[in-house]
Amino acid sequence: MRPQSIRRTLGFGLLAVAAVGVIGVAYRWSEAYVLRDTAGLGRAAMTLHVENIRGWLGRYRALPHVYAQDAHMKALLRDPANPALIAAANRQLEVWNMATGAADTYVLDRTGTAIAASNWDQEATFVGRNYAFRPYYSQAMQGRLGRFFALGTQSGKRGYYFSHPVRDGNEIIGVTVVKAGVAAIEEELRASPHEIYVTGPAGVILLASHPDWRLKTIQPLDETALDRIRANRQFEIDRLKPVDFGPPAQHPSGEKLVVARPDRSDSAPREFLYLSQAMTVEGWTLHLLMDTRVARTQILTAVLLAASLLLAAALVGTLVWQRRRRLVERLSEREQAQITLERTVNERTADLRTANLLLEAEVVERKAAEEELRRAQTELIQAGKLAALGQMAAALSHEFNQPLTAIRTYADNAIAFLERGRDDDAQTNIGRISKLTERMAELSKHLSNFARKPRDTVDAVSLIGALHETLELLRGRLEAADIEPLIDAPDNAWVLGGHVRLQHVIMNLVTNALDAVREQDRPQLSIAVQAGPQETRLVVEDNGQGISGESLEQIFDPFFTTKEVGQGLGLGLSISFNIVKDFGGTLRAENRQEGGARFTVTLQTAAAPAEAAAE
Ligand code: ADP
Repeated sequence: MRPQSIRRTLGFGLLAVAAVGVIGVAYRWSEAYVLRDTAGLGRAAMTLHVENIRGWLGRYRALPHVYAQDAHMKALLRDPANPALIAAANRQLEVWNMATGAADTYVLDRTGTAIAASNWDQEATFVGRNYAFRPYYSQAMQGRLGRFFALGTQSGKRGYYFSHPVRDGNEIIGVTVVKAGVAAIEEELRASPHEIYVTGPAGVILLASHPDWRLKTIQPLDETALDRIRANRQFEIDRLKPVDFGPPAQHPSGEKLVVARPDRSDSAPREFLYLSQAMTVEGWTLHLLMDTRVARTQILTAVLLAASLLLAAALVGTLVWQRRRRLVERLSEREQAQITLERTVNERTADLRTANLLLEAEVVERKAAEEELRRAQTELIQAGKLAALGQMAAALSHEFNQPLTAIRTYADNAIAFLERGRDDDAQTNIGRISKLTERMAELSKHLSNFARKPRDTVDAVSLIGALHETLELLRGRLEAADIEPLIDAPDNAWVLGGHVRLQHVIMNLVTNALDAVREQDRPQLSIAVQAGPQETRLVVEDNGQGISGESLEQIFDPFFTTKEVGQGLGLGLSISFNIVKDFGGTLRAENRQEGGARFTVTLQTAAAPAEAAAE
């Protein structure tokens, strides 16, 4: 057996013992209660019966006294042998006896012999019989009221005798006697639902509702009592047998119980609640036996009720206990689920933390990569700047070296001409030198103009002026490439923009065109200015290789170049595009039908400034 089931069995055993204990206590308690309650009813009934018996006796007690006063009785007792008086007395006693319902009414002379009686004409008449042995005679002869219960010696019937002295002056001359029969009172006792009996001082049952119990004894009689009974001839000694039930036994409830065979049925012995009450005046005791069947039923009902309540309580208790156990189980299940959940959450959190750490590491890597990229870009820009500087230095040295070489040659020739006395030729050469220096000065001026920091604002600027200045700056390159650009432009055209920035844009477009036509046999470059009232266009065309399809979309992107490393940075067009945009204009690129590229700068036409207009 598992320890749990042992514990359960033990628990049930203990509960059963407790239940039996509780039922036992309930039984004892309800038994005591019900018996006490029944006894209360019995005592009330007893009081009633005592009063009834007293009433019965009371009806006869005064009669002998009254009869003793009667003149006829006195006359008879003065002359007891007078037959006329006897006859008159007999009739008188018979009338009284009948009227009062007494058993017998008679007169004793001073010796105790009955001289007249109500039953004078019956066979078992008292007349002529001596009753000096009866205590009621001696009591009356002593001048007292006599009273005595006894079995009639003549009639064989029980009765209560009352007697009174008949006086003639101070002398007691006889005794009047009335015997009350028990039939009527016993009939009344029998009408009661209980068994009732009345015992005399010795313990002989004088009156009883149960016929079998009459003149039985409830205890063995001692010798003195027996002697007295014999002397008084109160009862027939031989008939005085004990009753067939024992003395009442004390019950734990405090009441007394007795088992006896009841009257009015020949059923088996039954249990009775025993009660008694003393009738001190008579020296009697009234006993009452109450059937306990009703009480027992009540006790059983109460016990059954207690047991049902106990059962109900046990059921409710079991139910509550089961509910509680289920609740505890459910709580522990929930706790387990909570623990599992917490564990899962912890695991997930750990996973997340790991993922986070990985992500952080990745971010750090990305940042490092970005940093690397930026550094590479910076380096690239730096390289680009250096390349541009190199290009510019090369261009400048080319621009300046050419005239410088020419000047040196002209100067050397001039010296030689002067030595030979060819002054005119020398002069011509010096004039050429002067022209060349003038051109160099102009170049320098343009350079400084170009180097000036561009202003951010837009103004009316001369597009034609900017164009010519730029071409002047590029003259060296144009001549080197042996190209004379075709210019189709009005005398003047004013647009909104910045002079230097506009120069930059034109220079970029022209140098790109020069780069494009480098490989051509017959390179051509044409620049047209179309001035309108709203817009003014500058169109730069070449007969180069043109722009390839995919490049057309990217040429304005920064750092886009198709040129060899060191040749181009890919910034020129992107800067130009932004400059034109700043001017509120547009820069467009396309391929010419006949081959080569066309770049169109569209700018807002501006009014000529006052001083320019004046010129
Ligand atoms: P870079 O001249 O330094 O390459 P640009 O931004 O000025 O930078 O030019 C970008 C590219 O556009 C050139 O590399 C070239 O491929 C193309 N491009 C510009 N102008 C012309 C042109 N006139 N004809 C053909 N391609 C051109």
